[in-house]
Amino acid sequence: MDFRSDTVTKPTQAMREAMANADVGDDVYGDDPTVNELEQWIASETGFEAAIFTSSGTQANLLALMSHCERGDEYLCGQQAHNYKYEAGGAAVLGSIQPQPIENNPDGTLDFKKLENAIKPDDSHFARTKLLSLENTINGKVLPLEYLSNARKFVNKHNLQLHLDGARVYNAAAALDVPVREIAQHFDSMTICLSKGLGAPIGSLLLGSKEYIVKARRLRKMLGGGMRQAGILAAAGKVALTDHVGQLKVDHENAKKLAIGLSQLEGFSVNPDFVQTNIVFAKLDETVDISRISQELSEEGITITPGNPIRFVTHRDISSEDISTFLDSLSKKL
Ligand SMILES: *Cc1c(COP(=O)(O)O)cnc(C)c1O
Repeated sequence: MDFRSDTVTKPTQAMREAMANADVGDDVYGDDPTVNELEQWIASETGFEAAIFTSSGTQANLLALMSHCERGDEYLCGQQAHNYKYEAGGAAVLGSIQPQPIENNPDGTLDFKKLENAIKPDDSHFARTKLLSLENTINGKVLPLEYLSNARKFVNKHNLQLHLDGARVYNAAAALDVPVREIAQHFDSMTICLSKGLGAPIGSLLLGSKEYIVKARRLRKMLGGGMRQAGILAAAGKVALTDHVGQLKVDHENAKKLAIGLSQLEGFSVNPDFVQTNIVFAKLDETVDISRISQELSEEGITITPGNPIRFVTHRDISSEDISTFLDSLSKKL
């Protein structure tokens, strides 16, 4: 049992078979039928004109930012945004794009007044504000649909582009019980991670207009991301998107069960009502020696990331019974 992340999922037998049997070609020539099919299929599924398959979510976000912004441009994002905080500063380092982070509200949204105040006037002192980048889900929280439509109005008013880091957008759609396109419709571009809860071994997607994806394709090559017989990976991605989406609701139920269980343990503070998807945060009292507990759990084959607050992530390789076993074992160590 590995609670560190939903990136630890392993490819299923069906996925391995799809990979082994994939029809392939040289994707840099545009010749890989499996990649082409995946890109066309996901574009129509989510309501965008075009898509590009990438090696990772980090690469997809970098391509997204660099395709919207030129050197000396700026993007607005959350202080907690993955594409600001957790991607080694790639947009600034490789794109010469200035991030303008804004403190996230507790529900993950960004305040429109604060965003408005951060937009730079057209003056040679300033970087040019070009883009607003949101994230959904963010730390397991789902941005409300109404907030997304207000974000669209906001960017239209201020002549900005709107990007969604949708690494876990399928989790958001499952929690809201809507098709992904209902979230996607508000955005100029969106990423999707195939290698998290959806269970593919490798791969992400970037979506946008035809022209935008042409630009991203050139940048992907520049960044060393042109792949050859990548259909082997795209085949796994297609299985993830067709066969594994239904599992996300189960992951969310398991996270809820975990949160309820943790809330009943001495020294753990967690409000199960705040758990919307597959990520659970708990605050620990000083009495909880989480390093020792983590060590003891690892001897039983249970992996957690010790920390305070502590984060647990549920996924397709953790069952409801596993949650019970884990809670039982944890309670004996307190
Ligand atoms: C994981 C993640 C990414 C990056 O994906 P990698 O495939 O790990 O590079 C981007 N954004 C969010 C919100 C993520 O959770």
